[in-house]
Amino acid sequence: MDPSLWAFLLSSPELPVPFPWERCYDTSTEILFYKNIMDGTILIDLRPRVNLGGGLFFDNSLWQELTGHFPINYHPNRYPGYNQLEDQNPPIILYSNCCGQLVYLIVPEFVQNCPLCGCFMFFLG
Ligand SMILES: [Zn+2]
Repeated sequence: MDPSLWAFLLSSPELPVPFPWERCYDTSTEILFYKNIMDGTILIDLRPRVNLGGGLFFDNSLWQELTGHFPINYHPNRYPGYNQLEDQNPPIILYSNCCGQLVYLIVPEFVQNCPLCGCFMFFLG
């Protein structure tokens, strides 16, 4: 994994996505992903909540729809005063040669199987 992108995913929502990565959104599938414009690598971001920076947040029920539950560390109303608006799900990165090519998935919790196609995933970080 590109260390600059990993650092960005962990902690830097206010910074631009580091080159050569671009953030893309497919409106038909409602999938947020990052694409390496040099080699075509795709990272699909399946976290229910992503801080896009600049006060923008990506909220998505796709993970719940795919897995049938909210991630274990996701609590919409965790406790009084908790500011959900500053939060995003911590990234867990899995990879697999599934869905037709090598794909990296950013997920909110550890899963063994690809939520998109069901095949076995490998843990990256
Ligand atoms: Zn898959």
